[in-house]
Amino acid sequence: MSTVAAISTPHAEGGIAVIRISGKNALTVADRVFRSVSDKIPSRMAGYTCAFGKAVRGETVLDEVVLSVFRAPHSYTGEDVAEISCHGGIYVSREILRAVLDAGASPAEAGEFTRRAFQNGKISLTQAEAVMDVISADSARELAFARSLQEGAVFRRIRRIIDRIVNVLGALAAWADYPEDDIPEVEPEELRKRLCEIQAALHDTIDTGDYGRILKDGVSAVIIGRPNVGKSTLFNLLSGCQRSIVTNIAGTTRDVVEERVRLGDVTLRLWDTAGLRETEDVIEQIGVNIARERLEQADLVLAVFDGAAPLSEEDFELLRQLEGREKRQVIAIVNKMDCGAAALESLREKFDCCIPMSAKEGDGLELLRAAIEERFYQGDVTPEMGILANERQLRCAQAAQDAVQQAIEALDAGEFLDGITVLLDEAADHLMHLTGERVSEKVVEDVFSRFCVGK
Ligand code: GDP
Ligand code: MG
Repeated sequence: MSTVAAISTPHAEGGIAVIRISGKNALTVADRVFRSVSDKIPSRMAGYTCAFGKAVRGETVLDEVVLSVFRAPHSYTGEDVAEISCHGGIYVSREILRAVLDAGASPAEAGEFTRRAFQNGKISLTQAEAVMDVISADSARELAFARSLQEGAVFRRIRRIIDRIVNVLGALAAWADYPEDDIPEVEPEELRKRLCEIQAALHDTIDTGDYGRILKDGVSAVIIGRPNVGKSTLFNLLSGCQRSIVTNIAGTTRDVVEERVRLGDVTLRLWDTAGLRETEDVIEQIGVNIARERLEQADLVLAVFDGAAPLSEEDFELLRQLEGREKRQVIAIVNKMDCGAAALESLREKFDCCIPMSAKEGDGLELLRAAIEERFYQGDVTPEMGILANERQLRCAQAAQDAVQQAIEALDAGEFLDGITVLLDEAADHLMHLTGERVSEKVVEDVFSRFCVGK
């Protein structure tokens, strides 16, 4: 592999900047740009040592620097690495990088150092993904999850499931290959039990994917209801500012307004929407369509009703739309309780969770907070469990689950064991894509394209 270099610190002024060089010729490249005060030559230095000196381009001295040497395989990338720590100026660090490139290195692509670490077997794909999560973590909890991913918690969890699948495959293969020998026949009962256990393990793992996503992005919550029930008033109450325009004119909110809101221990990604109704107003209709879309995607629906008025045809329409949804995902807000409670009883019958509120007066907020925390607070989830960290991992796990499910169905339908073997092979393959043990160039491209240059 070629020798690459990049500035690994942010593109900003700071105390120091680091130019990282990695590859077979990293140290001879360093020889050309570094003059040690004590006559040390980078390519003759031992790993884990450093030297003080000057960075030069030809005869021109660029800066006083410290050069650190790491020797393969004991470096971040697994290759020979030299790191030049210079003063943290944008211009000076770029000049040193130019000198390094002139000396024979090529510019590193986004995520290339971490990618090399992966390709040289230093880290698994999930650990590489964790590097980005560590960098982007902005709370203690997020960092703890990123760290556990980096330490291989997800890898180990998935590996255990792969091992179980491989065990079953082994039993099937032995039996298929040596039917006349003494190998005990694979009992369908026993096989089914083992497949169901694998299925349950995958199911639990996939469930954690939601935790991971919610931890990073927050709970997506959509406020929905007919025009004028007080959706925007509720939105403003929750977001603590006048973000969405409130009037008594139906159709005021035509767009979808979004805000990140912290409610007790839960972060919401809250969407205020146009009321669900058919309308002549072209812009409002677009808003209504987006509202429907958001309704589909949301983790939580806050369905707002005017508690003071009897339910209208539009309210019933909303009730119908919510019918297929998991009950836990819907909270009914019975608003305008300061004006009366005409609709409260009939709504109580229809919803598991009904919160009487006056969004205008701020009453009922505490009850709503408690209801949301009860649903989404994740205090009992710990990083060590191996929480799936992103969409890619989740999709691999789901594909594996589908394949195992099909295997169970095939078994129940009395199919030959060959067919089941193929499906289980497929499941294991999806999981090995998850861990990166078996992975296409395309997926690797995809994962590392999200990195920054220098990482
Ligand atoms: P939206 O169309 O659902 O977004 O409703 P808005 O939030 O724009 O509110 C419509 C009207 O209802 C406004 O005049 C609000 O002041 C009023 N309103 C909202 N919440 C309450 C409430 O809890 N009590 C009373 N009395 N009026 C409210
Ligand atoms: Mg509104």
